[in-house]
Amino acid sequence: MKHDLDRRSFVIAGASAAAAALAGCAGSPTNVTPQPTNTTYDVIVVGAGAAGIGAARTIASYGRSVLLLEAQDRAGGRARCDNTTFSEVPFDLGAQFFGHVRSGNPLYAVAQSLGLQLVDFTTVPTVTYLGAVPAPQSAMASFVATAGGIITQMLVQGALIADPAGDYPVADITDSYAGDTYYENAVGVTVLTETGALPSASSTLDLFNFTQASPAPFLTPGDSFVVKTGMGNFIASLANGLPMLTNVTVSRISSAASGVTVETTNGTYHGNAIVVTTSTGVLGAGGIEFSPVLPTVTSDAIAGLPLGVIYKSALGFSRNVFPFTGMTIVTQLSSAPAITYFANFWGANIVEFLADADLAIQIEGMSRSGQIAYLLGRLEQNFPGASAAFDGRFTASNWASNRYTVGSYSHAKVGMSQARTTLRQSVGNKLFFAGEATAVGGDITLLQGAYNAGIAAAVGALRAIGVAVSVSDHRPEVVNIEW
Ligand SMILES: Cc1cc2nc3c(=O)[nH]c(=O)nc-3n(C[C@H](O)[C@H](O)[C@H](O)COP(=O)(O)OP(=O)(O)OC[C@H]3O[C@@H](n4cnc5c(N)ncnc54)[C@H](O)[C@@H]3O)c2cc1C
Repeated sequence: MKHDLDRRSFVIAGASAAAAALAGCAGSPTNVTPQPTNTTYDVIVVGAGAAGIGAARTIASYGRSVLLLEAQDRAGGRARCDNTTFSEVPFDLGAQFFGHVRSGNPLYAVAQSLGLQLVDFTTVPTVTYLGAVPAPQSAMASFVATAGGIITQMLVQGALIADPAGDYPVADITDSYAGDTYYENAVGVTVLTETGALPSASSTLDLFNFTQASPAPFLTPGDSFVVKTGMGNFIASLANGLPMLTNVTVSRISSAASGVTVETTNGTYHGNAIVVTTSTGVLGAGGIEFSPVLPTVTSDAIAGLPLGVIYKSALGFSRNVFPFTGMTIVTQLSSAPAITYFANFWGANIVEFLADADLAIQIEGMSRSGQIAYLLGRLEQNFPGASAAFDGRFTASNWASNRYTVGSYSHAKVGMSQARTTLRQSVGNKLFFAGEATAVGGDITLLQGAYNAGIAAAVGALRAIGVAVSVSDHRPEVVNIEW
């Protein structure tokens, strides 16, 4: 058991050292770039997001050869900073929060050890606007009552679903609140932000698993933190020093007599085992071909975990357009689908916007000028005259249309919450899926869930190639599916 802890400490310490080298200035990590050779790697890892980084670090920590293949031009995956649009501060187009910190978040621990500037989200002031004025107490009370009612029902009803087969859509819970004035806002904060999908498409059991781990993450002191130097920069920095190839897209993975053959845009590689961390959006869209085709139980699990969509963007202004100073979270109460923004983002004249599900898809589908006009219009509803100070700076995410993500994060289809566990099972004792969709417990969809799932898959892969690994707390399911 001592060895377990030592090994895990080693992985975390290694991550700390790598991050220290690049904290706050990631984007072009100085990784080793192996060329295609006849080498057979112990383990090949596909995708350099949080899961792939967790997997590759674990394999390297056992002294085994590993190759990390990444399709995009950077590490980090769905944690990604725009470091150029705003000179004042990096802007996270993807993951932004260290979540569920109170129940243990290894990435937060690394960031803390590096002395990164971390801010408890509950210390960031929040205001709620109804039209051009702060929302009156009565409106706030109405909104809070609806949101509180949905969460309470979710926790009560979710606990009653003993068998995943008895699962039902979250809409069965939220629909009973549809007549409430601020129903759209309440559904936004209780369902859409967590799943990126509408209540009709979301599994009550899956959302219950997430919600019960932390029912009010943004209201609980010490549970959610933001980092000024950017989450995307931090996660990318954890890949520093790993043997990684960027701009290499994996197109086909074949089972070979011994191990796997991996065809890519940079040639063919061979591994004794493989960890695949691409999103279930990518896998579900056929982004990687498998030969032989994946077992039905595995492909059904992938299909059961589609990605919802979260849209993030930021606009720059020539002056403070708000009647307050300092970073402030603005909730816009309205009967339209909710939009939330960070006013005075990290004290700069920048506004961050967040939208979920269908609204996210709608805005992402607009042209650049259309997105700007839409966002300024929503801002004008609360702060008339603000748009006149827009200075032309704009950045936005494209998670739905990005072929390397095909969405933002996974949600289980109704009745499919167990698909996350199924996807962790080894396939042919050589293929191991990881990533946020395979996270377990309350960490589904989150960075630390992806990172831990990467470690779990690496442990499976190491065991499969005969390495004695005694880590028990990240152990993937022992079931092996024939391939
Ligand atoms: C808008 C948004 C906000 C979020 N907010 C938070 C938050 O605040 N806190 C939090 O904890 N989580 C948040 N998340 C979720 C978090 O970002 C993800 O859970 C996590 O980044 C997923 O990591 P991953 O390694 O599983 O997948 P990814 O990060 O998607 O990594 C997979 C990698 O595989 C690569 N790839 C894809 N196809 C191929 C191929 N064919 N060949 C080679 N490489 C390929 C991709 O380019 C990618 O780099 C957010 C996500 C989004 C999109």
